Amino acid sequence: MIPDEIVDRVRDEADIVEIIGEFVKLKRVGTSFRGPCPFHHGKHDNFSVLPRGTFNCFVCGEKGNVFTFLQKHLGLDFVEAVKWVGARIGVEVREVSRQQEGPDPREPLWEVNAAASEFFRRHLWEEPGGAAARAYVEGRGITREDAERFTLGFAPRDGTPLREHLRSLGFDDGQQLAAGMLVRREGSDELRVRFRHRLMFPIFDLREHVVGFGGRVLGEGEPKYLNSSESEIFAKRRLLYGLNWAKQSIRKADRLLLVEGYFDLIRLVLAGIDEVVAPLGTALTEAQASLIRKYTKNVFLLYDSDTAGQKATFRAGDELLRNGASVRVVSLPDGEDPDSFVASQGAEGLEREIAQSIDVFDRKIQILERGGWFSDLRHKRQALDKLLPSIRATTDRIMRDLYVARTSEEIASCVISMLPEPVRSRASRGTSSSASSPGLSRALRDRRRAKSRRHRCVGRARAIDARIAERRVCARSANCSA
Ligand SMILES: [Zn+2]
Repeated sequence: MIPDEIVDRVRDEADIVEIIGEFVKLKRVGTSFRGPCPFHHGKHDNFSVLPRGTFNCFVCGEKGNVFTFLQKHLGLDFVEAVKWVGARIGVEVREVSRQQEGPDPREPLWEVNAAASEFFRRHLWEEPGGAAARAYVEGRGITREDAERFTLGFAPRDGTPLREHLRSLGFDDGQQLAAGMLVRREGSDELRVRFRHRLMFPIFDLREHVVGFGGRVLGEGEPKYLNSSESEIFAKRRLLYGLNWAKQSIRKADRLLLVEGYFDLIRLVLAGIDEVVAPLGTALTEAQASLIRKYTKNVFLLYDSDTAGQKATFRAGDELLRNGASVRVVSLPDGEDPDSFVASQGAEGLEREIAQSIDVFDRKIQILERGGWFSDLRHKRQALDKLLPSIRATTDRIMRDLYVARTSEEIASCVISMLPEPVRSRASRGTSSSASSPGLSRALRDRRRAKSRRHRCVGRARAIDARIAERRVCARSANCSA
């Protein structure tokens, strides 16, 4: 099978008009394209293709997406169709073996979470016990309609009704435990409901299964945010809140905004900025950074302006640099977080700040500079200790060279002698090449890389074309046993 995210990506990036246009003579009519139907071999233009990804014949009723078209028209199976399109657009399509035949064993766990999510939603809006939670949501300027988009809910203080509700649906304690809704009390066998008196944010995987929750305590209490316990379906270091909604927008905009909290994300999406995700209440992990990198190279960090936010910014920055991303920091005015800022300044205000964002490494230097870290040698040494992890993390060689050059510029050339050997040799290369013309060498390298990529893609497309031609010949020859 092909991973869903690859199938989605190929479908989203393919130009259906161009691909069907290879087989059918299409002409533009308003927002769609029309031509003779290849399925019932019509003479008139009753066959319509919509650029957003579908086709439809008004006479014979054939319809579908780019994959269905190729399956029906060329007789490919689904996997071949995805590979065919992937080769055209330069997306590598690799199959992975199906781990298990038959229904997915995680199905019951997804169902428990979905049922719990519906229970929480109902308790937020329809039960008297949800009044405080409703007031809290409204107090944050979020209407019921808005909240329903994100399926917010409320977990009552008394856990028994949830447990009984799930049991009435056929989910026993074992399944509720496995799904992360029940936890074992420490040092005993007693089970209890994990979420009590919390505002609930369901967390979805890329196929829109509810895989867990983030719960914010209402009023005082610790911890402020609580996630579902780790389970077969919930690994918080691999999940990003909002990626299920944002994945297509991220590819389209070729950028991603990373925020810290659920409310930050909700505020941005409500303001019309869709390409935003949040880690689940922890520092950005390696797995999350690598997941982000599958969608875009361009990441903007929008963390709180306080010290904790700054620390989280640089930690996330290093993880992303390790994965070859280009990372910029959006600095909001003191005391603002993305939620409060967008609530008062709107999407335009945020776009202005994004336009003024600076590279994560420059931001680090800026903060060190303002803190007086470059004023004397002893501090310079310490400043260097703070910069080196980011330099080491950067896997994009050109970026790393630039960072080394930037560091030596800042600390003065003598300090280069303090760099460890491999970095030192890169540093001298970096400075000398930037003295000549870094722009030219980079452009040249990019062009070469793009060229070799293009050649590989064309090669793959040709190989598949050849197989299709072979198959057509086969189909015509009655004796063919292939
Ligand atoms: Zn037709």
